[in-house]
Amino acid sequence: MVEYYREVTMAAKYLKKIMPNSRTPQTAPMPGTNQARNAAGGYSFAVDAWTRLHRFLILGSEGGSYYATELMLTVENANNLIQCIQMDGPRTVREIVTISESGRAPKNDPAIFALALAAGYGDEATRRLALDALPQVCRTGTHLFQFIEFVQRVRGWGRSLRRGVGGWYNALAARDLAYQLVKYRQRDGWTHTDTLRLAHPKPADATRDTIYQWVTKRDTDPRPDAIAWATALEAPSDEAQAFIWAFERAQTATDVETILQLITEYRLPREALPTQWLNEVAVWDALLQGMPLTAMIRNLGVMAKVGLLTPLSTAEQTVIDRLTDKERLRKARIHPIALLSALRVYRSGRGVRGKGTWLPTPRVIDALDEAFYLAFDTVTPTTTRTMLALDVSGSMGWGDIAGVPGLTPREASTALALVTARVEPHYSIMAFANQLMPVAISPKMRLDAAMDATRRLPFGGTDCALPMIYAQTENIPVDTFIILTDSETWFGNIHPAEALREYRDQTGIPARLIVVAMISNMHSIADPDDPGMLDVVGFDTATPQVMSDFALGNL
Ligand code: CA
Repeated sequence: MVEYYREVTMAAKYLKKIMPNSRTPQTAPMPGTNQARNAAGGYSFAVDAWTRLHRFLILGSEGGSYYATELMLTVENANNLIQCIQMDGPRTVREIVTISESGRAPKNDPAIFALALAAGYGDEATRRLALDALPQVCRTGTHLFQFIEFVQRVRGWGRSLRRGVGGWYNALAARDLAYQLVKYRQRDGWTHTDTLRLAHPKPADATRDTIYQWVTKRDTDPRPDAIAWATALEAPSDEAQAFIWAFERAQTATDVETILQLITEYRLPREALPTQWLNEVAVWDALLQGMPLTAMIRNLGVMAKVGLLTPLSTAEQTVIDRLTDKERLRKARIHPIALLSALRVYRSGRGVRGKGTWLPTPRVIDALDEAFYLAFDTVTPTTTRTMLALDVSGSMGWGDIAGVPGLTPREASTALALVTARVEPHYSIMAFANQLMPVAISPKMRLDAAMDATRRLPFGGTDCALPMIYAQTENIPVDTFIILTDSETWFGNIHPAEALREYRDQTGIPARLIVVAMISNMHSIADPDDPGMLDVVGFDTATPQVMSDFALGNL
């Protein structure tokens, strides 16, 4: 009996000793784990439904991936969402609201889609929570139209949906309501006339009553007396109605002076103006004064093209000051991807749709570059020895991140790696596919140049274990490995998690591994049972700080 126990204990010790060091080729699952076959034919860990939800909310499925079309990826994610809704609907709604409200995702579309599914597939309590969250997730008229387009495919216009949509209108302050009605007039075939007629909200006050009437009866001929104020000679005294009056006035204005005066006095946005005025430099100059930051970032090329944003102009200085104001970026929820996208378009000197060209100024390009870093949450340096490893294999060169044309996971991960490299004093950057490649990039480079450098690297198969193997063979001391990848690893003869444990054993360094997901698939190379490995989602603006906390052992 004693002999037996000794043998069992010895066997356990032996197993414990050799299991972490065991080597399994990536074409087979690691024994005793939940590894599943990935799209590349290798095996990696399957992430749980909540991790997958988080990935979807941040990365979306737009543009698909190397392995999946956009539709396939969307269907997979929709199924996962429905699973989350059924497991814990209220938690699902909370996650959606948290990501959306904080502006942590490049695009709000996945959150809107997820909220619509919760409003359609949830139990009664979940459906109510989802509809109550409409004002938090759908912050513009466009968001609302997108939600309605999604939701009516999964449920009917029952009383609760009518109340939810009506509640969205009633929750807005009157001036904000007028702004939404004027700025976001239609999307996906929907207009406020349609939605207000369907939802038929009970107006909370007389102003709202007359504004709702203006929306629904504006096209009736003749217009009812109740909305005569909108086209009267004098502006109404009510601020919200006056804004709508100014919009109506702009539609019939025949001289630029009137347009300029309406922009300045009522802060009409570009969307409120007939397009004939949008070639005038004076109009853009007036618009820029009160222009929201999101609009400014999207219209840099246009402002350059009309001759407003030129070298050494006042407009150039205004743009630069606003772009490099961290507080302003945070308040406007500007996402780094929006800045990366603007940087690519603006510096190219031509619009995406190819209409017209402009001369980009280096100071604006630099300001966009700076703004990219400012738009992330502040990152605490860990001062640990950090190896940033970029997966540049074939699959990473396919698909668009957040629907930005031509922004592949490969290039996007280059930019993301620089966010960490910029604050960490001890960092090393390398690239790998089925072999390691030197890549000469550093945070001193401008983002576009760094992305150009990785774009030129050759493609190849995928072995995500290479950074650890390399560090071990070359005796490189690393506390934190950060691998930016789609986790579709298959090439190597040892799994990345095993390679990390070998590295720890050989060097005595309790090294950690952070896997930064660049695609919203279901895989990870991080072992969920190893507390020294962490899964994060690339381009969640909170991610760099989460990585820093983990590297410091604070998680
Ligand atoms: Ca790959």
